[in-house]
Amino acid sequence: MKALVKYEMKPHALEIRDIPIPEPGPGQIRVKVEYAGICGSDLHIYHNSIAITTRPPVVVGHEFSGFVDKVGSGVQGWKEGDRIVAEAVYHRCGVCKYCRTGKYNLCLDKLSFGYVYNGCFERYTIVEDYNAHHLPDDIDMISGAMIEPMACVARGIYDQCHLEAGFTVLVSGPGPIGLMATQIAKAEGCEVIVTGTGVDEERLAIAKQLGIDHAVNIEKENLKELVDSLTDGYGVDAVLECSGSQAGINSGLSLVRKCGWFVMIALAGRPITFDIEAMNYKELHFSGSIASTYSNWEKCLWLLHHRKVQLAPLATGIYRLDDWKQAFEDMENKKGLKLLFKPEDD
Ligand SMILES: [Zn+2]
Ligand SMILES: [Zn+2]
Repeated sequence: MKALVKYEMKPHALEIRDIPIPEPGPGQIRVKVEYAGICGSDLHIYHNSIAITTRPPVVVGHEFSGFVDKVGSGVQGWKEGDRIVAEAVYHRCGVCKYCRTGKYNLCLDKLSFGYVYNGCFERYTIVEDYNAHHLPDDIDMISGAMIEPMACVARGIYDQCHLEAGFTVLVSGPGPIGLMATQIAKAEGCEVIVTGTGVDEERLAIAKQLGIDHAVNIEKENLKELVDSLTDGYGVDAVLECSGSQAGINSGLSLVRKCGWFVMIALAGRPITFDIEAMNYKELHFSGSIASTYSNWEKCLWLLHHRKVQLAPLATGIYRLDDWKQAFEDMENKKGLKLLFKPEDD
């Protein structure tokens, strides 16, 4: 079968290769991949600027939905044809302090699907049963393929931040991650502002269609005036930083209220300069967030099942694996929102 393989730790060392269909070992499930989302970190793998442990040759891709195709020995609760999604933290040691306190996203020996273990930019892939989640019938396969990034957003919001009904929340960056964050904040009863610039007009329009209260092009509208009018001049209660940009981070820090919450959900990918004294003077709760754990996935499945969040409108491009170069180029040029592959049988 065809697979998109990172074959060497060098820039652009990525190509379609013909590899055998894998056999599931004990505790493993073979999945027929229906859709596989392209993540910003796949571009980092392509450019060799990835900070996550990567061991070529490896099939790339870590966001997918599919059907169970074959179960290995000892697997319980799964049968052929079941709808399935799975977490990207493939291997965790189980004995370090983080694993034993349920924070296996921080495991000292964490090895990920699509980085060290063959991922999902191929028709058949292998997952461990302890990483798998049943995808309910009422969540479509395209949305299913976007649960992995949504779970990372859920980690930032539910475990690393604090939201409550009535909060005014600022989400900087209207990309797929930002539009997931806005919808979760809205589902929690918050009034949400999502911000972007001129290049984001299409994305801001989708935010409006999704019912987000305020989708703001900061080049056209005065964001501070809006925040002041919504919060009596106090500032927003929480910032969900989904842009990873210097401007977005600094603007968020200036617009968050005293004792407010600020969580970095986006990966900046480079050092950022910001006024750390703001944390003192505002007594801010500032935190980071990475990957996801079981409870984040269960929360996302609940939110999707109850129609609190919509992912399907974020999928703006579906590509064949053979067209991966075009897909990566479109992604780099911010064409559309979420781009996915639809791997097919040879
Ligand atoms: Zn990802
Ligand atoms: Zn561990």
